[in-house]
Amino acid sequence: MLEVFGLVMLCKANKKNAIARGKRPGGFIALTIILWIGLEILGVVVGVSLDLGRGSIFLAYLFAGIGALISFLCSKFGPKGDYVDPSTQSVNSYNPMPGSYNVPVDTASYTPYPNGTGVQPSPFKPAPSAAAAQPRFCEHCGSPLPDGSNFCGNCGAKNEA
Ligand SMILES: [Zn+2]
Repeated sequence: MLEVFGLVMLCKANKKNAIARGKRPGGFIALTIILWIGLEILGVVVGVSLDLGRGSIFLAYLFAGIGALISFLCSKFGPKGDYVDPSTQSVNSYNPMPGSYNVPVDTASYTPYPNGTGVQPSPFKPAPSAAAAQPRFCEHCGSPLPDGSNFCGNCGAKNEA
């Protein structure tokens, strides 16, 4: 199990190296596993064919180590690419729809409201003029007349409209 742990660690290291150099990490992970396992099997085959006995196990480890080293060197010192890992991409530089923000407003021809005054038209009717709102008084007793009424609320006399 120690070997599997080492292989996983190496895959993570190579992935990190690949991303740091702008290379897609997937290929390097596959390369790491293939070189490690492949050369380890090759070491066993060579060891058995040479009739090394228990020595073939050590030869397998040696070959696996060489494979691991090759994969590490490839990821660490391989040619640089322009791949950017999505998880490391800056949030600030991410714009799903370039040009959709900061749309310039033509302020010269822009009229906020159709009445052309720049003032929002009131949905309410204008207040009654001062003359219309002037209170009326009874011609007989001088009391204020009720709104819209010609009859005095105090003495009951009729006033002309
Ligand atoms: Zn009156």
